[in-house]
Amino acid sequence: MSARKLPEGLHPDTLAVHAASARSQYGENSEALYLTSGYVQPSAEASARRFAGDEDGYTYGRYGNPTVASFEQRLAAMEGMEACMSTASGMSAILLMCLGLLKAGDHVVCSQSMFGSTIKLIGSDLAKFGVASSFVAQTDVAAWKAAIRPGATKLLFAETPTNPLTEVCDIQALADLAHDAGALLCVDNCFATPALQRPVQFGADIVMHSGTKYLDGQGRVMAGALCASEALVTGKFLPILKSAGMTLAAFNAWVVLKGLETLSLRMQAQSANALRLAQWLERHPQVARVHYPGLASHGQHALAMRQQSGLGGAVVSFEVKGGDPAAARANAFRVLDALQVLSLSTNLGDTKTLVTHPASTSHGRLSEDQRQAAGVVQGLVRAAVGLEHIDDIKADFSRGLDL
Ligand SMILES: *Cc1c(COP(=O)(O)O)cnc(C)c1O
Repeated sequence: MSARKLPEGLHPDTLAVHAASARSQYGENSEALYLTSGYVQPSAEASARRFAGDEDGYTYGRYGNPTVASFEQRLAAMEGMEACMSTASGMSAILLMCLGLLKAGDHVVCSQSMFGSTIKLIGSDLAKFGVASSFVAQTDVAAWKAAIRPGATKLLFAETPTNPLTEVCDIQALADLAHDAGALLCVDNCFATPALQRPVQFGADIVMHSGTKYLDGQGRVMAGALCASEALVTGKFLPILKSAGMTLAAFNAWVVLKGLETLSLRMQAQSANALRLAQWLERHPQVARVHYPGLASHGQHALAMRQQSGLGGAVVSFEVKGGDPAAARANAFRVLDALQVLSLSTNLGDTKTLVTHPASTSHGRLSEDQRQAAGVVQGLVRAAVGLEHIDDIKADFSRGLDL
């Protein structure tokens, strides 16, 4: 089955609802969900050609599925990139990228404020296989440059805005550094999504996603993806996926495929709610600091507005006041435990506002040094703002903050 032939030059909002695999003979308007692990072959010869890669056609569920392909085509179209390879989760997308691009002796430069599991995977797990890594300050381009080891550095990996502090890096500056060193730049676009930010426009070579978050958008399934050139996807990632099998399940692919249709609307509405929450928190006497790219007080506000279509995204983090770290932690826990409407849940990207304490959850496995470097202090609370009425969101935070 080949991709639907759509006219050139369609806008991302149009691609978000139309880009997909061809319709079946039944003409279904909503994309079909193909729940099958195998495919019946027309002949032994055709089967042999398909397995050899000489003919298009599905052979086995680990290698490909039409519903999965629809999700990949739609996400690639929205990111403005040639191709996409989806995976079972965001972390398995990072693993696939690393297995596809790196070997023992290679070196990776990452931001020190990346997602906790990303730091663990690249900094510790890959080190066992001889892949070296350096972690640098997200916003310090000179530190990224200094960390590059000529000849050995093959990958620069950034996440912008970061989780949970929403630090924004200059994608174009990092892409230039990577390319001067003969390396590739991957951007984890989980927080901004292609609705706000298309990293390829600023020179990124690979765009990585946790589809679990905003692409699904309603907290239902796990998914991941790497968008890149056709050469990288078929040449570097597909062979690893075939042998290692971090394949996205067809059902999950169908859920995230349909999620993409409303991504732009959700990101606009949730960003608007997040801005209003951030402005309110900034004035709250019990709040020491608010991290949100849409606020003028954010360290990279101007860059964020330029890179992210003028919107700050839906994640707001704030530090609750409280003397020493133990007191700050107790105050943060009080805010979480007083919630009556919003969800105390370590996820993000849902229509429900999700509130979490990063220091004891997403960043709990890091050493205290790594946590300090990432700026994840004990008083920090992260809110992934959903679609509730803004007054109800503020009222729920007031319960614990105003005590
Ligand atoms: C959640 C997340 C990931 C990992 O994705 P999973 O789908 O949970 O494996 C990676 N990067 C960021 C920024 C995330 O928020």
